[in-house]
Amino acid sequence: MGERLESEGSPADGAVAALPVDLGELERETLACTKCVLATSRTNVVFGVGDPEALLMFVGEGPGRDEDLAGEPFVGRSGALLDALMAEEIGTDRSRCYIANVVKCRPPSNRDPAREEIEACSPYLKAQVEIIAPRVIVTLGNFATRLLLKTNEGVTRLRGRSYPFGRAQLVPTYHPAAALRGGAGVLAEMRADFVRAKRLLLSK
Ligand code: SF4
Repeated sequence: MGERLESEGSPADGAVAALPVDLGELERETLACTKCVLATSRTNVVFGVGDPEALLMFVGEGPGRDEDLAGEPFVGRSGALLDALMAEEIGTDRSRCYIANVVKCRPPSNRDPAREEIEACSPYLKAQVEIIAPRVIVTLGNFATRLLLKTNEGVTRLRGRSYPFGRAQLVPTYHPAAALRGGAGVLAEMRADFVRAKRLLLSK
């Protein structure tokens, strides 16, 4: 067992006191996690995918049905839109980025993740961010944006600018599912946010 990373953990769970500093070890630990009720209904833990040394990281909400079955984040229609925006606005693809979620197991019936589930799971995301150390983090939707920016404000008000996040810059934008529902206006704003992320990547 290698070095471990101190984590805030969940107030109710001192067991997530230290997490591995190696991404592979962290993934192995997460795949066995039963720290919240979502463990009882998942098919797969959806840890995250991509380049462990990525400069650009995307953070979504949690796995849906397709992701739960595949064990990979952002597959299905939302994933196709995310891939298209990456390619068209940033000129990249998921093999060169890293994609993770706030919660790693699917909330049943695609309900919102509960506060205690987010608290239990967020140490894994924080550890992923620390290990990968991206330059730019794009949060997709309210859950990721609120968690990482520590705010109750919604993404509609927060998007349109970037925020310092440690040594990274954080760019909030909508979840792709919102763009699929919300039509051309939401999609245009998402495109602008992706362009903002690209400029930040190129500016360093
Ligand atoms: S959602 Fe996170 S905390 Fe809950 S069981 Fe899955 S990996 Fe563990």
